[in-house]
Amino acid sequence: MARYQTILETIGRTPVVRINKLGPAGVNLWVKVEAFNPLGSVKDRLALGVIEAAEKSGALKPGQTVIEATSGNTGIGLAMVCAQKGYPLVVTMAESFSVERRKLMRFLGAKVITTPAALRGTGMVAKAVELAQKHGWFLTRQFENEANPDMHSATTAQEILADFAGETLDYWVTGYGTGGTLKGVSRVLKDKSPKTKIIVCEPEDAQLLGSGAEQARNPDGSAAAGHPAWKPHPMQGWTPDFIPKLTGDAVAMELIDQILPIAGPESLTMSKRLADQEGIFVGITSGATFAGALRIAATAPKGANILCMLPDTGERYLSTPLFADVPVEMTPDEQVIFDSTPLGKAD
Ligand code: PMP
Repeated sequence: MARYQTILETIGRTPVVRINKLGPAGVNLWVKVEAFNPLGSVKDRLALGVIEAAEKSGALKPGQTVIEATSGNTGIGLAMVCAQKGYPLVVTMAESFSVERRKLMRFLGAKVITTPAALRGTGMVAKAVELAQKHGWFLTRQFENEANPDMHSATTAQEILADFAGETLDYWVTGYGTGGTLKGVSRVLKDKSPKTKIIVCEPEDAQLLGSGAEQARNPDGSAAAGHPAWKPHPMQGWTPDFIPKLTGDAVAMELIDQILPIAGPESLTMSKRLADQEGIFVGITSGATFAGALRIAATAPKGANILCMLPDTGERYLSTPLFADVPVEMTPDEQVIFDSTPLGKAD
């Protein structure tokens, strides 16, 4: 730890933590906890990466409004970066994503334009494109922008190589939203750590990669239509209703060794288990990725090192099914504890 000139300097360098109870004996299961980023998710990296690349290329002018379509974490990261650097920010977001996300972005000074859930991810992207064209705003294009994987190659991947220097990292487990983490990290691991198997998790209800069905694309790589294999799923931030260009690139570059479908309920359970067994408080896609890592761990050779990405904090999900069973009022056993001393006790 040191002193920093701005909050942006604290992005990245997230810790890798050993799993002590939830994994099988004899396997080294590790998690990379992206909740340690200043705004609580892996997307803080992308936010800084795309804005600084656009400043450098001249695509983003001083004081120009920035716009992006996001399931939330990108918008929250961008809201921090834009607040610090002095750019107004407009975000389009499907109304189906958690309300915590909207409030956080507005708190950081951004404008949030919600799009109808029925229009899905493709709709929120189309709205952002329309608004950018109409008002001359800078669209960050997170699903296609090479500055997204470039940031992961320059930071996330280098951190992982340094953390496993002198050892073999046998498996690296991730999901995909844009595929920025996937493309940016896996191309570096394939080159510098060729023994590492790249495992990609996706929702069981939306097996876009697993289906093998092609994604229709526009000439610029953006999705021309929704993907036929998509159904709604609870992993907010994973698998929009199209295969993003950056994810498609990772497939075409043959960076992926295995694809695992993960069920929604298992994701929620694993997020809870990480919290109540390991004290690691993370969101739904983290639980989902961890479910995939546990499946790999079950058959991995003794002594294997498995690293699982945990993309964000659990605090972003208080209004979602992740917390549906968590009561607000005292439970009967809590009431028994209350009643075990005289203060405030009803007769
Ligand atoms: N999990 C969550 C909660 C996210 O918000 C995102 C990004 N949308 C991801 C995972 C996937 O990250 P990436 O965009 O780098 O594929």
